[in-house]
Amino acid sequence: MEQFCHFIDGRFHPSTSWIDVTEPATGAVYAHVARGTADDVNRAVQAAEAAFPLWAELPAAERAAYLYRIADELEKRLEEFARAESQDQGKPIALARSLDIPRSIANLRFFAAAALHVSTEAHPAPGMLNYTLRQPVGVVGCISPWNLPLYLFTWKIAPAIAFGNTVVAKPSELTPRTATMFAALCKECALPAGVLNVVHGYGSEVGAAIVEHPRIRAISFTGSTTTGEYIARTAGPHFKKLSLELGGKNPTIIFADADLETALPTIVRAGFLNQGEICLCGSRVLVERSIYDTFVERFCEKVRSLRVGDPLDEHTEIGALVSEAHYHKVLNAIANAERDGGQILVGGKPAYVDGRCKNGWFVEPTVIVGLKPSCAANQEEIFGPVVTILPFDDEEEAIRIANSVRYGLAASIWTQNLRRAHAVAAQIECGVVWVNCWMLRDLRTPFGGIKASGIGREGGWEAYRFFTEAKNVCIKL
Ligand code: NAP
Repeated sequence: MEQFCHFIDGRFHPSTSWIDVTEPATGAVYAHVARGTADDVNRAVQAAEAAFPLWAELPAAERAAYLYRIADELEKRLEEFARAESQDQGKPIALARSLDIPRSIANLRFFAAAALHVSTEAHPAPGMLNYTLRQPVGVVGCISPWNLPLYLFTWKIAPAIAFGNTVVAKPSELTPRTATMFAALCKECALPAGVLNVVHGYGSEVGAAIVEHPRIRAISFTGSTTTGEYIARTAGPHFKKLSLELGGKNPTIIFADADLETALPTIVRAGFLNQGEICLCGSRVLVERSIYDTFVERFCEKVRSLRVGDPLDEHTEIGALVSEAHYHKVLNAIANAERDGGQILVGGKPAYVDGRCKNGWFVEPTVIVGLKPSCAANQEEIFGPVVTILPFDDEEEAIRIANSVRYGLAASIWTQNLRRAHAVAAQIECGVVWVNCWMLRDLRTPFGGIKASGIGREGGWEAYRFFTEAKNVCIKL
């Protein structure tokens, strides 16, 4: 059976203890991943520290050249990586091929280019000159989740490395496969030993050891709000730099003047892409009352037509949920919503997929109406193929419902009215607003959330600021 080993100091290291890796679509164990310890993290930190001085001093063009080379190799193997991601995570292969892996390549190329173009500020004044040096932080920890494994792994390590840091990374133990393949790719591309180290294992063991390690100076974390709270509590006293990209309960706000014909496919995609396992998914759909009935009918019709199936089947639109525990969590959330008075218009049950997937963790795409904004299904992240729909009467009420949750990650607004689009976008409490679109990304823009969705921003200049320390130099003239 395949084994996913730690990658430390440019070499793969087996482990004395292993964790089963299961294919979500079949429920069967197909590999083992190393169960790391605090000692493994310590060895990775030592390797990263040893690599840091030379890597930080390397001209940016040379660091960028490594990233470009790795991106080119990844592109050549796009199909192999897409298949691996689909099998490991449960997502449709068509999605891994069109989103996950291309975006991972884009992350590498974007930050390679960024490293060549960043600049710093100068503040000339009579009798003195101030300028700002932006220096790499040192050894940084990158902890990523299971929903977009390689996409989010590279979203962190690419800027970290491009701007001169060395990395100790931990992917989710549920989806360790593409990070391991990626480490092998870095080795083939002769990335200097110690620049990227990958330590596998449980969050409570390896993740915690990274967060607590006194010589890891910054933590870039994407994952749940609960883990984010722990990291903030633990890393705070060490004065580490923190970027926390956490959960979301994102509103999709549809006004009566929206062009439903073009909007509907994107609104369905926003609710159900990757089985709803994307932090940006629009899981609360708020609809202006005058078009509520028409919208619900047309939305449900489209959701019913989504194809649930084997993730490796080219035509599948909804794959398997990542783990058995998550599958039960999602089904429980649906049952609770029903108990809270929700009416299930579509789905609501496990989905049965025949053949090799008969024991897989599939859930029907589910639409629920009739729930109060304050109930759990409208307040807590379900992170599955579940969308609730709520009516609103006017702009003010839409904003109030949208802002009534503890999260503040993203929102999408659908209207033809330009004044309203700007006004509502300004008043939604979140970090990203899309108008008449969803998940349209330009990597130069700041990305992140507010409230319980996290602190800090990544992307573009924000990533540069996060992965470097500003030093002011003042010269008396
Ligand atoms: P999670 O349980 O918080 O895990 C995220 C990562 O943290 C995993 O690698 C996990 O390892 C590790 N971890 C767990 N406990 C830890 C600890 N005590 N110390 C350090 N690391 C620890 O989240 P998840 O369930 O994998 O991911 C889903 C969540 O991520 C959702 O809430 C989603 O909204 C959020 N998310 C947010 C964004 C964003 O950009 N805002 C993007 C994607 C996902 P193990 O898996 O090995 O336990």
